[in-house]
Amino acid sequence: MNAPPEVIALCSAAGLIAGQVLSLVAVRLPRRMHWDLENEVALAQAELGREGQAPAGPRPALFARGPECEHCGAALRGVGVVPVLGYLIRNARCVACGVSLPLMGPLVELTLAVVFGALVAQNGLGIGLLAAAVLAALLVTLAAIDARERLLPDALTLPGLWIGLTLNAFSVTVDPTSAILGAAGGWLFMAGSQWLFSRITGREGVAAGDHKLVAMMGAWLGWQVLPAILLLAMGTAALTLVLGRLGAGTTAQAGETAQAEMPFGPHLAAGGLLIMLGGTSWFSALVL
Ligand SMILES: [Zn+2]
Repeated sequence: MNAPPEVIALCSAAGLIAGQVLSLVAVRLPRRMHWDLENEVALAQAELGREGQAPAGPRPALFARGPECEHCGAALRGVGVVPVLGYLIRNARCVACGVSLPLMGPLVELTLAVVFGALVAQNGLGIGLLAAAVLAALLVTLAAIDARERLLPDALTLPGLWIGLTLNAFSVTVDPTSAILGAAGGWLFMAGSQWLFSRITGREGVAAGDHKLVAMMGAWLGWQVLPAILLLAMGTAALTLVLGRLGAGTTAQAGETAQAEMPFGPHLAAGGLLIMLGGTSWFSALVL
């Protein structure tokens, strides 16, 4: 342990609060992206002299309001705002409309609490911890958005990529060469495999957002860990599909649909987090 228990507890509490803020971002950022897209279409139509439909309401803000019910928009107040506890006390329901609150909020909060605590225990306090916490926060937020919307926003993956490369110009998490090869190699490998896959099978395969997510992880963690992250992601994705098929007793065709519709980002992010926390030696021992 590189940090006393009270520091670990404090970092876990910071993880709970960061998780609450980021679970709001995970809900609001895709809404804002839809609004921007509708607005762009309306503006383009207006330029062409056609009648366009402007998006309803003002542009959704990311941080202007506290947590609210997604169904009726009622603000969560009092104990309802406390991370995880609020969800449990309210029996996972909105007080105003009675609709179930999504599990994603407390899940993001708990994951970041555990990850932040484990990172400080591993790294101690310092710039390395701060960098690891930022990457973990990005990964958890991206996983939450992809799980809900099948979307990995450029607004998170691209700044994440550039921040990782900038930090590692000064070798904060890995040396500069590993970071550059990780970012470029990660993207080229993913885009190349996807091109080959679509040529051979005529199907789409993983989306462009997944390529950028792998490039981002390469920039922060170096090219050396990418094979382990990809294998872990494919392993958990395959396991999820098999368990889903067994659970639902689905047909082969339904299984194929589930495979095509399954977001890959949460599996990539989970692979990245596992390698960040545990290194690659346990994984090599498992595989070799
Ligand atoms: Zn409600």
